[in-house]
Amino acid sequence: MPRCYLCSKLIPVEDRPLRRRVRVGEIEKKKYGAERARFVQSQYGMRVVCKSCAAFQEHRARQKELLELHLFLTAVVVVGLVSLAFWILRKDPAGGAGFGGV
Ligand SMILES: [Zn+2]
Repeated sequence: MPRCYLCSKLIPVEDRPLRRRVRVGEIEKKKYGAERARFVQSQYGMRVVCKSCAAFQEHRARQKELLELHLFLTAVVVVGLVSLAFWILRKDPAGGAGFGGV
């Protein structure tokens, strides 16, 4: 019986083992002599996981995608509002009568 790589639970034989890309380790590289020259590189590999861990991983991946979409849409709205503001200010006649400057 295979074991889940993430939670070490035994996976019953009747369940088809699911293989997912999981983080299997990391390499920390340090450059001596230079300050703050340190970076961590994660390593990923295909491992057998149980149903619940696979579902949890998919849920987290979906959450991450939604967050990225949300950030992208927020950035688009901010850029749109800023360019709209510039457009409105530029359309204003050269006297600058906008914003109560009568
Ligand atoms: Zn598991």
